[in-house]
Amino acid sequence: MQLILILFFLWYSKYMKEIKEKSLDDSITSLYKLGPAKEEKFNSLGIYTIRDLLYYFPFRYQDFTDVVKVKDLLYYDKASAVVNITNIKSYRSPRKKMILINAVGEDETGKVSIIWFNNPFVLRTIKVGNTVSLSGNLKMKTKTRMEFQSPSYEIISSEDMDVDFNELKHTGRLVPVYSEKPGLSSKMIRSYVKMALNDYSYLLKETLPDETLKLYNLENVQDSIYQMHFPETIEKSEVAKKRFIFEEMLLVQIHMLQLKKENLKIPSPLISVDDNLLASFKKTLPFILTDAQNNSINEILKDLKSKSPMNRLLEGDVGSGKTLVAMSAGLIVCSDNYQAAFMAPTEVLAKQHFLTAKKLFKNFDIKLALFTSDSIQIKDGNLEGKISKDALKHEIEKGNNYFIIGTQSLIQKDISFSKLGLVIIDEQHRFGVKQRKQLLTNDKLVPHLLSMTATPIPRTLALAVYGDLNLSILDELPQGRKPIKTRVVSKRYETQLFDFIEKQILKKKQVFIICPRVEPSEENESFKNLLMKDVASVKKEYERISSIFSKYSVAMLHGKMKPIEKEKTMRDFSENKINILVATSVIEVGVDVPNATTMVIEGAERFGLAQLHQFRGRVGRGVDQSFCFLMSESYAKNTRDRLKALVEYNNGFKLAEIDLATRGPGQFFGLQQSGIPDLAMSSLKDLKLLAQIQKEAQRLANIDSSLSKWPNLEQRFSSFIKGLHIE
Ligand code: ADP
Ligand code: MG
Repeated sequence: MQLILILFFLWYSKYMKEIKEKSLDDSITSLYKLGPAKEEKFNSLGIYTIRDLLYYFPFRYQDFTDVVKVKDLLYYDKASAVVNITNIKSYRSPRKKMILINAVGEDETGKVSIIWFNNPFVLRTIKVGNTVSLSGNLKMKTKTRMEFQSPSYEIISSEDMDVDFNELKHTGRLVPVYSEKPGLSSKMIRSYVKMALNDYSYLLKETLPDETLKLYNLENVQDSIYQMHFPETIEKSEVAKKRFIFEEMLLVQIHMLQLKKENLKIPSPLISVDDNLLASFKKTLPFILTDAQNNSINEILKDLKSKSPMNRLLEGDVGSGKTLVAMSAGLIVCSDNYQAAFMAPTEVLAKQHFLTAKKLFKNFDIKLALFTSDSIQIKDGNLEGKISKDALKHEIEKGNNYFIIGTQSLIQKDISFSKLGLVIIDEQHRFGVKQRKQLLTNDKLVPHLLSMTATPIPRTLALAVYGDLNLSILDELPQGRKPIKTRVVSKRYETQLFDFIEKQILKKKQVFIICPRVEPSEENESFKNLLMKDVASVKKEYERISSIFSKYSVAMLHGKMKPIEKEKTMRDFSENKINILVATSVIEVGVDVPNATTMVIEGAERFGLAQLHQFRGRVGRGVDQSFCFLMSESYAKNTRDRLKALVEYNNGFKLAEIDLATRGPGQFFGLQQSGIPDLAMSSLKDLKLLAQIQKEAQRLANIDSSLSKWPNLEQRFSSFIKGLHIE
C-alpha cells in the first residue's frame, strides 16, 4: 500500500511538474496537431513560441455578428445562422469539373440551402444530424429560400442548438482575419490562436507597470489579448489595440533611449574647433547664413568637441542649405588634421558636392578628393588633377587629412581610414551601428556622424522614429528666395504652357520636365521592369518635346543611363548648354542648378506630396522667380486636395503634416524603412498619444533604465527587440 502511495506520489509530482512547466516560451508545436510542416509556415511568419502566436494580431475582423433565424435570412446579404443539417451531398459540375457540395439546413423557422465549391473537406466534416453555425454571403435561391454561398462553418454538437457565440471561432461573431501563407490559412491560424488563448493565456503576465496602466487608462494584458483576437465588440477591440500600440511603441522608445545611452559610451575623436577659421570661412561666402544654419553648425560643433560620438540628423526642407552646414563641419574637422567622408546617394550628386566644395574651399588649405567608380580627382593645395585610386588609398591610410566625397561605396570599398573624424551622409536618415563599426579608425575611435534628410518630418514624429539621434532642424529658407509659384494645369492648356516655357528659355532660364512614373500594372511587377517602363515613357516624352522645341537644346536623364552619360548631361545642364531637361524621378534628390526656374511635373497625381515637394525644390534655388506646373487630368477630390496643398504651401514641414494626415504613416515618405513594427507605427497617426508614450518611456528610464524593477516588462522588452531591426 505504501509503495503504491509513493509511486502515485512520484507520478503525481511529475504530472504537476509538467503542468507547472507550461510556458509562453514553449514552441508552438506544443499545440494540438501542429506538426513540423505547419511549424515551418509559422516560423516564416516570425512565430516560434506560444507568446509569438498570442502576439500575432489580426489585421481586420469579419463581422458575422448578425445571427438570425433562418426565416429572417431573407433580409440579409451576409449573416449567421445556427442550423441542423438534414441533407448533404456532393456532385461534379459537368462543365467546369468542379466538385459542388449541396446541403440543407433547418431551424424551427425554416430551411436554408448551402453550397460549397471545390471543398471536399466539408463533406468529410459535416454529417447529417450535425448542428452547425454558418456565416457568410447569402443569395436568393428560390422565392422563399435563401442560399449560403461557401459559408464559414463550425460544428457545434450533434443536437444542442443553444450556442454561446463567444465560444465560437469562425462564425456568428467578430471573426479575426490574419495575414496568411500558402498552406496556413487564416482559419487555421485562428484555431491555433484559440487553443493558445485557452491553454496558455492565463500565463500572460502584465507587462506594463501598474502606474503606466493607471496613468494612461490602459486595459490589462489578459483581457486585451483576448479582445484583440476575439473581440466582443469593435469598440473593445479598439481599446485593446490602443494598449498594445502603447506597449509596442513604448518598447521602441525605451530601445531608442538605450541606444542613445550606449552611443555615448563609445569613444570618438575629440575635435578642437578653430572658431577663427569658421568665422573667416563664413566671410568668404557670397551670402549670409540663416539663423537656422548658424544654430545647426553650433550644435554640430558642440558635439564634435565632445569625446562621445555625434549622432545627429540634420533635417531641412529642400533648398534650406544643408550642404553648407555639412561642409562647414567638414572644414573644421579637416583643419584639425582629421579626415572627413561625405557620402552622397548617387555619383551625380557626389560630383556636384565635390564641385561645390572646390568652390567653397578655394581659399582654404583643404585636401579634397572625389572618389567615384570611374574617376578620382583631387584638389590638394595647389595640385589639382587625378591620381590613381591606390595612391589616394595610400594617402588616406597614412592619415592625411583628406575631405573625401563619394557615394556609400566609400565604406564598402577597401579604403582604410586611419584618422576618420567625421562621416556625413546625405539623404539618409539613419546609419546602423554595424555600418559605423566598419568605420573604426586605427585608434578604435568611432567617427562622428551627421546624416541629412530633406524629408521634413515633424519633430515629435522624428523623435519617435529617430529617437536615438539628436536632431537639428533647418526650418528657414535663405533670405531673398521668392516662393515658387505653383499651378495645377490640365493638358488643355499645354500650348500656353509651352509658350511660357519658350519665354523662360529666351530669358536664358532652364526648364525641367518630370515624366510620370509608370504605375505598377500588376502587383508583382519587378522594380527592374518598372524602371524599364519609366525609361520608355521618358524617351517618348523626350522625342515629343524635342520636336516641339526643335530650335532649342533638349536632353534626357534617367536611371538607366551610364554614370558617365548622366554626369555629362548634368554638367551640360548646369553649364546652361541644355535648355530643357526631360527626366524621371532620378532628379528628385539634391540636384542644384540655380538657373533652372521652371518645373513641369506630368502626371502629378501619381506622386506623393512629399515627393512632389522634393521635385519642386529643384527650382527656386536662385534669385529669380520660379514656377512649378503640376499637370494632372485627375478630378478626384482627394487628388485635387493634395495638389492644392502644394499650391498653397511652400513649406515642407507643413506639407509633411498634411501628407501624414491624409495618407497615414505607412505611406509616409521614408518612414517605411525605419524598421518600426506596424503596430507601433500606427501610433504615429496620433501625435498626442505619441507624445504621451515618449514621456512615459523617459519617465520609466529615469526610474530604472535597465527595467529590472519591472521584470515582466524587462522580459517582454528583451524578446521584443530581438525581432526589431532598428540598429
Ligand atoms: P539642400 O538643403 O536642399 O541640400 P543646398 O544645400 O543644396 O540645399 O542649398 C541650396 C542652395 O542655396 C545652394 O545653391 C546654396 O549655395 C544656397 N545657399 C545655402 N545657404 C544659403 C544662404 N544662407 N543664403 C543664400 N543661399 C544659400
Ligand atoms: Mg542637398
